[in-house]
Amino acid sequence: MASKDNREVIHCSFCGKDKNETLILIAGLEGHICEVCVEQAEQIINDELDSQIEAVKPGDFSLPDELTPLHIKEFLDTYIIGQDEAKKYLSVAVYNHYKRLRYQSDISDVEIEKSNILFVGQTGTGKTLMAKTIARFLQVPFAIVDATVFTEAGYVGEDVESMLTRLLQACDYDVSAAERGIVYIDEIDKIARKSNNPSITRDVSGEGVQQAMLKMLEGTEVNVPPQGGRKHPEQKLVKVNTQDILFICGGAFDGIQKAISRRLNTSSIGFKGADDQVDIADEELLRYIIHKDLKTYGMIPEILGRLPILTYFNPLDKATLVRILQEPKNALVKQYTKLLEMEGVELEIPQDTIEFIAGRAIEYGLGARGLRSIFEAIMTDLMYELPSQKDVKSFVITRDYAEKKLSKDKVSKLKAA
Ligand code: ADP
Repeated sequence: MASKDNREVIHCSFCGKDKNETLILIAGLEGHICEVCVEQAEQIINDELDSQIEAVKPGDFSLPDELTPLHIKEFLDTYIIGQDEAKKYLSVAVYNHYKRLRYQSDISDVEIEKSNILFVGQTGTGKTLMAKTIARFLQVPFAIVDATVFTEAGYVGEDVESMLTRLLQACDYDVSAAERGIVYIDEIDKIARKSNNPSITRDVSGEGVQQAMLKMLEGTEVNVPPQGGRKHPEQKLVKVNTQDILFICGGAFDGIQKAISRRLNTSSIGFKGADDQVDIADEELLRYIIHKDLKTYGMIPEILGRLPILTYFNPLDKATLVRILQEPKNALVKQYTKLLEMEGVELEIPQDTIEFIAGRAIEYGLGARGLRSIFEAIMTDLMYELPSQKDVKSFVITRDYAEKKLSKDKVSKLKAA
């Protein structure tokens, strides 16, 4: 260690080199370190961290011992309103998926297959939210991809492998983390076969993509372009094993009710059927969906076989929208109340105002997605003015106030959105 009267003996406390043998000597409380030792220390730290990441193999992924499907559903309940049937299916599927990962090395007599999931339901009913929330619960990497951008290899569009690029990007290219992640494939219905017969002409964005996805859904080693796309042919491909990646597909499957009703020999309300036919409302029909209906719609049997868990999402009625505005952990009413609380203002939004907002979302055909834009249209002036009105300590958003703020031009903008 250096002392005032003995400066020449300053040396690196790690390798012992004298000050004049080093470029930089950094002083600490009790000693010094030279630039070479700093570099070596960095290398040691990186190696150690890498080996720790390596050590977390997908098979080691452990869910807390006390975890049950009930716990998973309870967590989903804090963010998603209704959709109980879908929540139950998802909770059980995810529970089994991760149990399979945990115990697969211990069981040799039974092969537990992957439980990829298919969500069917109108747009804006919470399918993406459900997939996102489950990934958040499990704290695994999550990526949302749109099936419509994919085409069969060699055609204009993206290769299906690039959906794993998004997953890799979501976890900073930590391959072992990506290998136990969740991929949500949206608009899966848009890659339905274009005609009900196996293709004579090539169907490169429909059946072709379904075919290309088969291996990946089932579990295989995929060479993934780390930058995605086909624009960087020089990039070094990263090997990702999809064996333990959970794929959740979602689609609206518009008009699938016809196939269901035909199979059930029922008719939707509004049409007079034969005497032995039962009338079921269109939205009610979805609960009877089975894989066969999706085959009729144009999904190939092989892909349906790799999406064994099938569940549906109910359309959102006004009562559900009212709950969405108030109940989830990130409900708009809760968010705005908190924001104004930070300004020292107590915000009150009476029930009839909330009903009015939900009603408008239905009326404009905006569903749950529109709640935020309607809410913002009502709140923006207030959020702008209140911070400079220090004497205002409370504010009530009456129905009249809300109606006034949703002035004609705003309404037409929202409708067009
Ligand atoms: P989808 O994937 O079915 O088209 P999303 O999950 O993207 O629908 O839903 C859009 C938004 O609407 C969500 O981000 C969420 O704010 C809201 N939302 C939809 N359904 C629900 C629900 N059941 N509970 C709470 N919020 C919902």
